[in-house]
Amino acid sequence: MSLHWDKGEKMDHQQRQYQLARQARDARFDGQFFVAVKTTKIFCRPICPANLPKEENVEYFIDAAQALHAGYRPCLRCRPDSAPHSWAWRGSSTSFERALALIEQGALQHATLEALAERLGISDRYLRQLFQKKLGMSPKQYALYHQLMFAKQLLHSSNMSIMDIGFASGFNSTRRFNDAFQKALNLTPAKYDEPLIYRWKHTPSN
Ligand SMILES: [Zn+2]
Repeated sequence: MSLHWDKGEKMDHQQRQYQLARQARDARFDGQFFVAVKTTKIFCRPICPANLPKEENVEYFIDAAQALHAGYRPCLRCRPDSAPHSWAWRGSSTSFERALALIEQGALQHATLEALAERLGISDRYLRQLFQKKLGMSPKQYALYHQLMFAKQLLHSSNMSIMDIGFASGFNSTRRFNDAFQKALNLTPAKYDEPLIYRWKHTPSN
């Protein structure tokens, strides 16, 4: 489910490329794929400084949302939420890329899936099919994971309160934000914040 390729051959080639890229911690691939470690249930950027896991313990995802969806949690060292963001995937359709961009801008927070599909000039059924095919999840799930990754970034990089971060990330109540965060990341936003505040206080700035 992690990768969607038409042919087994192509997948083998791609997998080999990812393997080499992560072993070399090749920065050119940062943001293009994510490495999930089955034994720890953590996922990383290809440039993660942590020890390299064995290939048989690894699976690859082309989007952080997919890794979250599969039950992996973002690594605290390389922070997948801060990876460069690009949808220049091989074979992505324009409708799909536009849908991703609009969802990331909050299209599903204020309007329905039907309205989004209409804006793209496609049916909502086709839009759902596209997401299923490309990412293995629904547009709404993608929207939620994106909100959570955005919230996580704010937890790291801003001094905003958890309530404000929840609202800024498109959650209409702190309770909903807490629940969704806990469910996907297995920690409450407050718990997530704690070790980081500790780190800010104890890491000399350079
Ligand atoms: Zn990592």
